[in-house]
Amino acid sequence: MIVVIDGPAGSGKSSTAKAVAEKLDIQYLDSGALYRAATWIYNKSDQNRDKFFDTLNEVNISFKYSDAFFNVFVDGDDISSEIRSQDVNNSVSTVAAMPEVRVFINKLMHHAVSQNHYIADGRDLGTAVFPEAQLKFFMIADLEVRAQRRLKEMGETDVSLDQVRENIASRDNIDSNRDSDPLKKAPDAIEIDTTSYSFEEQVAFICEQIRPHLIATTKQ
Ligand code: C5P
Repeated sequence: MIVVIDGPAGSGKSSTAKAVAEKLDIQYLDSGALYRAATWIYNKSDQNRDKFFDTLNEVNISFKYSDAFFNVFVDGDDISSEIRSQDVNNSVSTVAAMPEVRVFINKLMHHAVSQNHYIADGRDLGTAVFPEAQLKFFMIADLEVRAQRRLKEMGETDVSLDQVRENIASRDNIDSNRDSDPLKKAPDAIEIDTTSYSFEEQVAFICEQIRPHLIATTKQ
């Protein structure tokens, strides 16, 4: 079974999806982390496209979800912290707009979800990657609320609220307007505006929607 949550940066997708995964004892897939890993490789390739694609095809990107952490590895090295850097934040939407990168990451994701029950979050999961998902959610929230959440998530940092807001707005713009699988609500997705819902309410609502599907798939 695959359940997807799409939405813009900082709308609360990943923390909600993780809490749902914990409650329902299913797997979590952070598709943004995989685009971030590709971006980390792009930066290591001096942002040179040829060098980047050569490296992308040579390395092994793997991931593991355990104890509420989504860890990403490149050739066995854990790069989970490095993919949250400002360098990666600044170029991830450019890298994610490359159609070849999307094909590459989509393959990785399809392979993973065929093995287990998953909740995954991203931008285009309900529209392009898993149009067949049993349930689709689309989370939104005001830009200001999203920027404040992201800054809080970053912990101790030199980055200011203005910089976070600017980065989120710029990524939203690129993600929504790119040609390849832009950020878009699937027509059959349930929209959740997280500006006015408490975290617990969102998690409870989503779990409630998923449970019948989980029972149905487990019975098959
Ligand atoms: O979810 P997160 O903010 O970590 O995603 C980082 C970036 O990865 C997004 O801004 C977007 O450019 C890209 N992304 C994407 N498609 C997805 C998930 C993420 O293009 N399914």
